[in-house]
Amino acid sequence: MEIRIYGDEVLNKRAEEVAEITTELKELIGEMIKKCPEANGIGLAAPQVGVSKRFFVVVVQDREDDDGKFVKGFSMVFINPVIKASSGSCKMEEGCLSVPGIWEIIERPEVIEVEFTDIEGRRLTGTYEGLLARVIQHENDHLDGILFVSKLPKLKQDLLKKRLNALKNKKRDY
Ligand SMILES: [Zn+2]
Repeated sequence: MEIRIYGDEVLNKRAEEVAEITTELKELIGEMIKKCPEANGIGLAAPQVGVSKRFFVVVVQDREDDDGKFVKGFSMVFINPVIKASSGSCKMEEGCLSVPGIWEIIERPEVIEVEFTDIEGRRLTGTYEGLLARVIQHENDHLDGILFVSKLPKLKQDLLKKRLNALKNKKRDY
């Protein structure tokens, strides 16, 4: 499984709805859940692995909190997600496995309500905030062909142009 890099057309396309949760799809999702932490990511959208379909995974690994307490990791799958509502606003640094080496502060809503289908085909609604809300919005953008760098002010984008162009057609197998 190869992670597609900036400049790859699949990253600029609006992905298609998932019509059916097939065994193949489940296998692909399983691979993505494995790949995501291997590549040091916390989210991975289907277009990033060359599949123009509307789903993404979020993988949070086991960790220790500030007091040294063990916090169990988890993974989630969002199929055909729709952000129904959002509120507040916060700035957070973002990076992207498809835009390696570039980290920028992006402003986005703080709390979101998302409707999505899970791996069992159930239509669910969840409310998320903090890091999860951030990752979900970032990954959901991938399904619409939007990369986080396009959310930066024009001037900032111009400053990044050279570095972004250098990424074009560069293939990286994490
Ligand atoms: Zn990304």
